[in-house]
Amino acid sequence: MTTDLTADPRIAGELASAGGQPVRTTPFPSVGDLSGRRIGEEEIAAVTDVLRSGKLNCTVGTRTKEFEDAFGELYGVSHVAASSSGTSALHLAVAAVNPNPGDEIITTGLSDAGTVLPILAQNAIPVFADVDPASGLLDVESVRSKITRRTKAIIAVHLYGQPAPVEELRALADEKGIHLIEDCAQAYLTRTPSGRLAGTVGHLGCFSLQQSKHITAGDGGLTISNDPELGRRARLFADKAWPRDTDERTHLFLGLNYRMTELQAALAHAQLGKLEQVVEDRRRQANKLVEVVNALPGLSTAPYPEGTSWWLFPIFVDAAQAGGDSVAYGKHLGAEGVGANPGYIGHPLYLNPVLSEARTYGDSGYPIAEVASTYAPGLCPVTEDLIGGGTMMVLGWNENFTDEDVADIATAIQKVHRALTAG
Ligand SMILES: *Cc1c(COP(=O)(O)O)cnc(C)c1O
Repeated sequence: MTTDLTADPRIAGELASAGGQPVRTTPFPSVGDLSGRRIGEEEIAAVTDVLRSGKLNCTVGTRTKEFEDAFGELYGVSHVAASSSGTSALHLAVAAVNPNPGDEIITTGLSDAGTVLPILAQNAIPVFADVDPASGLLDVESVRSKITRRTKAIIAVHLYGQPAPVEELRALADEKGIHLIEDCAQAYLTRTPSGRLAGTVGHLGCFSLQQSKHITAGDGGLTISNDPELGRRARLFADKAWPRDTDERTHLFLGLNYRMTELQAALAHAQLGKLEQVVEDRRRQANKLVEVVNALPGLSTAPYPEGTSWWLFPIFVDAAQAGGDSVAYGKHLGAEGVGANPGYIGHPLYLNPVLSEARTYGDSGYPIAEVASTYAPGLCPVTEDLIGGGTMMVLGWNENFTDEDVADIATAIQKVHRALTAG
């Protein structure tokens, strides 16, 4: 096994899209099945134990509490509320911040819809700030320019596992007297440049245990905080605002049932024990590809690899230098057997009908009826360029990638780059 990822003779071969031999003909480990998931005897035993106990709900069992405590210890936070999904974890956070109907929450258009839907669910108005073209992460000055009297919070997304500029955003939030929520669904154990864990810089951090994330329980979520009031409100919101610690059957405010089951918690707790190795393995392999990609004119990757936990592997493309845009690269890489998704989500979050056509509650359009016309092309030019302008693509990434898997990906990228820049 060669360690020099730039030495493969296949790099000079004819592109598979032009009839040449593909670099790769077998599938890579996938987050969609066991090949790319570390699910084994620990998980089977944990779930089996719960079944044998007959205690499937967290109000009768102890697994969810134990999982929350373990996560709190790992993150060094005092409050952890488990819930049913990453989207619900974000809903808990928004509900904890308790916006008035019509208050504004600033976020990014380059994320999963789970970032923005909870804002609408709490009758607040999503406001979109633009992102940095080198990373796709929120641009602090753009966020600042969107703050109004009605701004209640900022939701920053640690996209692909990169650290969003949360230290700067926290300073901005403190200056304005608003809250910062960190969406860490793609960013377990991500570190900020000052060395802090993503999720602990803002007032609240939110995680997902969905199938494709670093660790999984099929679905599931976590909301963390060091603020006792926010932490308690988040927890209560997930349990009909029923304060079980007081033995009183009462409902203190509008909450829902977003409880995690004991089965999910037992499974997630077993997964948590593997998290550090998962991130280390993703980082070790990603660092090899970082060098290869950054050595190719016109291509670059996450600008702060040290702190990135590599949920996906982003590549930013300057078509003039790289010989083609991310759509061209996606096509040629696909033919080589290496899946590359240009633009990640197809269109910015604000161009989904739920926002652009205000499809919310009945036909009221509430609370975005008046602003839906601003959810239109041109709102966030950099976001739109990364998603639809051919300047970004994402590769699937995985903790189970072998050295050969990474070498094949590197070879395919170099081969396509060489062919497209040949003149
Ligand atoms: C996955 C994801 C969510 C939503 O999580 P679910 O568990 O799928 O509800 C939210 N934000 C980001 C950035 C995500 O990647």
